[in-house]
Amino acid sequence: MKPILFNFTDSELEKFITDMGQPKFRAKQIREWLSRGAPDFMSMKNIPENLRRDLDNMAQTMPVKIIKKLESADGETTKFLLELNDEEQIECVLMRTTYGNSVCVSSQAGCAMGCKFCASTLLGLKRNLTTNEIFAQVLTAQWELRNDKFSDKPIRPNGDANNGDVSHIVIMGTGEPLQNTENVIGFIERANSDLNIGWRRITVSTCGIVPGIERLIEWGRPINLAISLHAPTDELRSQIMPINNKYKLDSVLDAAWRFTDLHNRQLMIEYILLGRHDENGDMFLYNATPEYAEKLSELLRGKNCMVNLIPWNAVDERDFAAPSGNAVHRFQDTLIKNGIHTRIRRERGTDIGSACGQLRLNNARK
Ligand code: SF4
Repeated sequence: MKPILFNFTDSELEKFITDMGQPKFRAKQIREWLSRGAPDFMSMKNIPENLRRDLDNMAQTMPVKIIKKLESADGETTKFLLELNDEEQIECVLMRTTYGNSVCVSSQAGCAMGCKFCASTLLGLKRNLTTNEIFAQVLTAQWELRNDKFSDKPIRPNGDANNGDVSHIVIMGTGEPLQNTENVIGFIERANSDLNIGWRRITVSTCGIVPGIERLIEWGRPINLAISLHAPTDELRSQIMPINNKYKLDSVLDAAWRFTDLHNRQLMIEYILLGRHDENGDMFLYNATPEYAEKLSELLRGKNCMVNLIPWNAVDERDFAAPSGNAVHRFQDTLIKNGIHTRIRRERGTDIGSACGQLRLNNARK
């Protein structure tokens, strides 16, 4: 296995380079390229070509390597399938939006949480990602943006302070971030200090790991918190999210409100709208009935939150169906009538399999 220079400290990198008979300043030049996310040595234009070739034989640059890159037809979404040094695979998604460039990163290879609608958990949990492996996903997206073949499209950020670099991060890819809390915290601290991404532009999404939320409260940074709720009663939630048997809705929301009250932030509630087929093949609404919209309203009434309704994005192995557009709007109308802030999440990159874990799973099937 080749050493990964990105993981070296400055003095380790300097030793590696001087041991090759090169002057010290080359180590500094290489460090600059690494901090920009250079995927290979050949991109390091101010390094002599013979040295680049030697380095290529001896080492690799980043802890993640692109093995597949899919771009949506509208140019707004790029999905990366990345390989780690031990050949585990993860996903990362770059979304070019009107408010900036957002990257959705993975925090684990696989996931142990077993949510019944999710592709990421089908192969189980392989391992936690290191802080460097999470950070390298953002740098990979940043490198892509700086070499962006879509840069002439009229979808660049609107006066964003980061001038077209990554401006927002959501930790909502493969894995449960609060099962890898310390590495996720280390990653966020680094994204804030090294890339100047503000706390309020970083969102951690959890299925409801209460001790993890408590740790975020203790940590004290005013990031955004999103809860993958997906059902408004314990009975229904436990059917599709096994974690609910351990941490019930009340305890999850209690910890979440304490977090958002502390930072005066709006809590994001993620709610995938699911249908199912009965034995005759007819579709019925599963968690998307008007009754469940009423129950969800009761749970959230008077609270500072935003409900993101997410139409189901098909995963072959999962036995759900997408409710009709009418059903989605009826659900939303009930929430709005009850005074709950709600939006329907725009589907991005459906042509490139944007559901969490789908690309990794498709690749593993081959
Ligand atoms: S939805 Fe999130 S927590 Fe649940 S199995 Fe998928 S990746 Fe894990």
